[in-house]
Amino acid sequence: MASLKNKIVFITGASSGIGKACAEIFASKGTNLILCARRIDRLNELRKTLIKKYKVKVLILQLDVRKSHDVKKVIGSLPTQWKQIDILINNAGLARGFSKVHEADITHWEEMIDTNVKGLLYVTRAILSQMVERKRGHVINIGSTAGHEVNVMGNVYCATKFAVKALTQSIRVDVLDKNIKVTSVDPGMVLTEFAKVRFSGDENRSNEVYEGVTPLSPKDVAEAVLFSANRPKNVNINEIVLTPICQASSTQIYRNKA
Ligand code: NAP
Repeated sequence: MASLKNKIVFITGASSGIGKACAEIFASKGTNLILCARRIDRLNELRKTLIKKYKVKVLILQLDVRKSHDVKKVIGSLPTQWKQIDILINNAGLARGFSKVHEADITHWEEMIDTNVKGLLYVTRAILSQMVERKRGHVINIGSTAGHEVNVMGNVYCATKFAVKALTQSIRVDVLDKNIKVTSVDPGMVLTEFAKVRFSGDENRSNEVYEGVTPLSPKDVAEAVLFSANRPKNVNINEIVLTPICQASSTQIYRNKA
């Protein structure tokens, strides 16, 4: 197992859910963290907790990954001691709305495509070039089972996660001679703020998503991310797909309503 102590891990979308759980698990291994999201107040709280609990260094950045100019500027002007990023976890993402294509709100599509695909690309572009120069690094993308098989009303969200899968594979080919690892961690249902965001805060709709199931926890996913990150030097984990025990695929879910 490779040690992660004193490495630098950059996590997008660290203010909630899977990203936050990744921050906690990597901090517990002595990793220094660069955490970004739009909600800086939450990052600030998390920073204080992690420093106190694990004695690691934590840099927080208020960043909207959809803004290419800001991404380039903020990452380009990182303090010298934070420039050599060892692991990038592209986690920021969302689903918005639940409609058929011919009935959808187009702004929802734009938000998902801009965040899940273009945002991931902007951040990767800014960080991967430094990894290529140093011939060292690891890019871990958070995909989804929705990127393997479409589900009802999943249309554009699924398309973004199919794109993440394609990008993970393509980037792996791009840097094949650069000693850089590229991984995709693709969960099924995880209990985070994801459903709340998808249904714009409608509690009833978001509760329905998890009716009769015990979803994965963010920590379950973070453990898979950690496993891909601490393999020996010569090992690349290409893809991890994980689901709750009651979920066989994007569409096959057993709901125990007894
Ligand atoms: P979550 O609890 O809603 O967390 C999403 C994170 O993404 C938040 O920290 C949010 O931070 C950040 N984010 C969203 N838009 C952003 C933007 N424009 N710029 C920067 N950060 C942004 O949901 P989650 O389930 O942990 O989602 C994390 C990833 O897992 C997503 O890529 C999602 O597609 C994937 N996933 C989730 C599930 C699931 O069932 N939950 C299943 C498969 C895959 P701010 O709002 O503070 O910016």
